[in-house]
Amino acid sequence: MRHITTSEIQSDIIDRRKDNPKILSGPVLTNSPNAVLSKTLLGRYNDLPLPADRILATYVWIDGSGEHLRCKDRTLNFIPKLPKGKLEMILEELNQKCSLNAAESLQRKYSIEHKPPFFSPRDLDTAFQVKCKLRERENTNSFDENLKELPIWNFDGSSTGQADGHNSDTFLVPRAIYKDPFRRGNHVLVMCDTYKYNMEPTTSNHRVRCQAAYDKCKDEEPWFGIEQEYILLDSDLRPFGWPPGGFPPPQGPYYCGVGANKVFARDLVEAHYRCCLFAGVPISGTNAEVMPSQWEFQVGPSLGVSAGDDLWVARYILHRLAEEYGVIVSFDPKPVQDWNGSGAHTNFSTKKMREENGIIEIEKAIDKLSKVHMKHIKVYDPRGGKDNERRLTGLHETASINDFSAGVANRGSSIRIPRTVAEEKKGYLEDRRPASNCDPYAVTDALMRTCILDE
Ligand code: ADP
Ligand code: MN
Ligand code: MN
Ligand code: MN
Repeated sequence: MRHITTSEIQSDIIDRRKDNPKILSGPVLTNSPNAVLSKTLLGRYNDLPLPADRILATYVWIDGSGEHLRCKDRTLNFIPKLPKGKLEMILEELNQKCSLNAAESLQRKYSIEHKPPFFSPRDLDTAFQVKCKLRERENTNSFDENLKELPIWNFDGSSTGQADGHNSDTFLVPRAIYKDPFRRGNHVLVMCDTYKYNMEPTTSNHRVRCQAAYDKCKDEEPWFGIEQEYILLDSDLRPFGWPPGGFPPPQGPYYCGVGANKVFARDLVEAHYRCCLFAGVPISGTNAEVMPSQWEFQVGPSLGVSAGDDLWVARYILHRLAEEYGVIVSFDPKPVQDWNGSGAHTNFSTKKMREENGIIEIEKAIDKLSKVHMKHIKVYDPRGGKDNERRLTGLHETASINDFSAGVANRGSSIRIPRTVAEEKKGYLEDRRPASNCDPYAVTDALMRTCILDE
């Protein structure tokens, strides 16, 4: 491998930028077929007024690979009810003064600690105390209020690896609803799970088990905050913005980097952030990662099974934006050898862990996790651990796939207790093992079953 010098990469970027404006983050790209379409064809019809009683719904689902998404659109003749945003709900509860004390303490916290008013886990804790739910919808059982009017739909499962040709009708059951940041207005995205002709869940439908686990441990209020790492690929399937035929200078300056020679496609990342917030996905942050063109966003904390819904919809939005940008999102856990891979660190807590001396509960959970390491590894990527073999090498901020380890502030262990959690003696743990292409339903399911349900 030849390392290219910074000045080489700079002049290369400048050269390539002249004839290819997508090398650096800039205005919407003009050279991708999709971008051209949206500028010319769709751009001209996007603001055509549609009949007010015709709503477009995009049904999104996980296909037979267990890691790729599919979608198709349909018209609804009613406006589906949307779940309210968390902030809106917190404020509503506070306005209703259902608990003056809690409201006061919440305000005191803001003034003393200058906490951001949104998604700070501690504020959410208070929010729970005032019985302000994370979500209006809790996704209990098969349908909730917001979803029951949405029709069950079907698709050809033989084209998605989900059914045989001779019996190919596969069912889509709506599970979570979001605002559509692409069409806006009253249009919606609907996260679905999939069922075979006989209404048995398809093989890649891990949501059913996850829902069942959550139903059994709801009272423990399991929260998940997932850090989704990914890389962007150019149309030649090389990392976006990398010099042709070579490597960028070694990793070091790119993590949380600033500057055109350190990060690529920041505008895509920013667009994703905004689209997620608009849609109702509780995205809590984003940062550039260790490898150039590698990024991370964090979703959560989300409650129980909705963590999976939220992350899958965030992934869908990212893929869709990248289509417009003319780049490809890869969730492969080890896209380039000798560089940092991509994970989906899963931060997990229960009500008890978040209370005084919750560290005892956290340690109990770690002890339980230590006994079933391989069982978890098997469900932490879509290939039974094979994908993670390439990533969990013990190098590049990972622990070896074969050993279980835990430590405070240790990014080389399977489970990390963040420094602040150790100091405050309460909070959450970080499971660093899930691969970037994991199914969050399977990961959160395993965590609930091991740590709460003692299965
Ligand atoms: P890291 O230091 O590992 O990069 P990040 O800041 O990227 O951590 O992500 C931390 C994640 O943990 C966020 O998604 C956040 O919402 C989530 N989180 C914070 N507190 C809790 C909690 N009590 N339970 C579950 N998740 C939490
Ligand atoms: Mn992170
Ligand atoms: Mn990271
Ligand atoms: Mn992390």
